[in-house]
Amino acid sequence: MMQRLRIAIDPLLRETYGPEIAWTWGLLLSGMGYAWEEVALSEALCDIAYVIAPERAGHARLIICADPQRWRQCSHYRLAGVGRNNGWQYPVYSGESGDEAAIFALDDSLVYPRDIIFDVFWLATGQEEARWPKNKHGYVDITGTPAEREQILHLALASGIGVGLQRTLANLGYAEPLPRWPYGKRAAAGVGHDVDYPEVIRWLEPLRILRRQGTSGLAPAAAVAAGSRHHWHFASWVEMEKRLNTRSAFYFVARKGSLLEYAAGTPDSFYDVRSRRFQQLFRYLAEEGFEIGLHASYRAFESREKFAAEKQILEAASGQPVRGNRHHYWHLNPLDPEETLLLHEQVGFSYDTSLVHDRYAGWRRGLAWPFFPFLQNERRELKTLQLPTAWMDDQVFGHRAYNAGDRQELLRSLVDRAAEQGGCMLIDVHEYIYDERLFPEWAQTYRELWEYLVARSDVWIDTPCRIADYWIARYKTLQRASHGLTAERSAV
Ligand SMILES: [Zn+2]
Repeated sequence: MMQRLRIAIDPLLRETYGPEIAWTWGLLLSGMGYAWEEVALSEALCDIAYVIAPERAGHARLIICADPQRWRQCSHYRLAGVGRNNGWQYPVYSGESGDEAAIFALDDSLVYPRDIIFDVFWLATGQEEARWPKNKHGYVDITGTPAEREQILHLALASGIGVGLQRTLANLGYAEPLPRWPYGKRAAAGVGHDVDYPEVIRWLEPLRILRRQGTSGLAPAAAVAAGSRHHWHFASWVEMEKRLNTRSAFYFVARKGSLLEYAAGTPDSFYDVRSRRFQQLFRYLAEEGFEIGLHASYRAFESREKFAAEKQILEAASGQPVRGNRHHYWHLNPLDPEETLLLHEQVGFSYDTSLVHDRYAGWRRGLAWPFFPFLQNERRELKTLQLPTAWMDDQVFGHRAYNAGDRQELLRSLVDRAAEQGGCMLIDVHEYIYDERLFPEWAQTYRELWEYLVARSDVWIDTPCRIADYWIARYKTLQRASHGLTAERSAV
């Protein structure tokens, strides 16, 4: 029988912010690996109390103080910096000092005076990103903001708070929670290859090479024009990854675009997954143990029917169910990303891996753990798992200005963060960048990172789908063993 933590939530909060608070606690407890039982605050003993003042908590072992003002004005808070206290890191908002976070003892309880539960909700629902300026694709620009100065995307503050809570519970003598990952591993890692331009347009691609590389691109541009260099590198990736004894996913665009559309603002890929060449490719990838996922087209988020049709087309062409998705250009609805996350559930994906900022490496929602996002409009948890992408290849090449410093150092620091938090290092390496002359150092950067991961041996490397399946099954086990923390406004 799995140990359940008894948690009480102040009825003064539960009535008004019940769904939001229950979701946040469910995220944290399941992320840590604890089952839970929600109990009334009046019950004599509980393990955790979340209350607006410590004296309301009775005999809880751990008391977290809630700040109703924060919940009332959730979207008003702006990031000013990062607070650090006794190994904890948390967002500091404009107008506050940020040094309110030291834990103290009260009788035989520990009291955490800062509302770190609100912090996790605020981070994981992306309250800050709604205000950042965006370009036409929805890419944010955080130049000059505290988020940039503090490198907040590298810190994964929300899962970091979860790890801090776990450490506190261990210090209080609670038994080890359910492990996050199988085979005794600390963290997980996976790669999905976006398949954007596997077939070059031989008169156009040379111009793109020259734009990227200047005059040093003359020879490779000529080679592409002559057909002796190309973008079709599936077998190269398969061989590279088989040598490392790892497997990955390839995400295919199921909607065939055109140059005309491209020029008119719909930059979809030009290939047809229904062609013989792709059907053969799908068989080959499946036989080698690689995952086939959807790379939702640029405007898929605009229509549930079109999005569902893309999934069906790819399933028919590949002869297998498609479980995972990543949006081309990370193109969720820029004005309302949650509307697109809801589509993932409606279309029936097990997981999506699109919550990252195009220009910046790191964890967009402060979570290095996989998670089921919260839908604020309906005040409930979504059913499609989010495996947040932590790094895309182009962030350290095309977007190098936003991700300065040594490439491997940056990537290893992200791996170290994921390992420290028991998180997942999910990355995006484009299929077409394998050729060293066309994309100098791109594939090599990935290979070196993967060699580093394989050599550490404490990271479980597998396809995104198998990582998602594992996390979903673990979550269901914890939920079945738990009671309460549901979206109803009063729980007990
Ligand atoms: Zn793409």
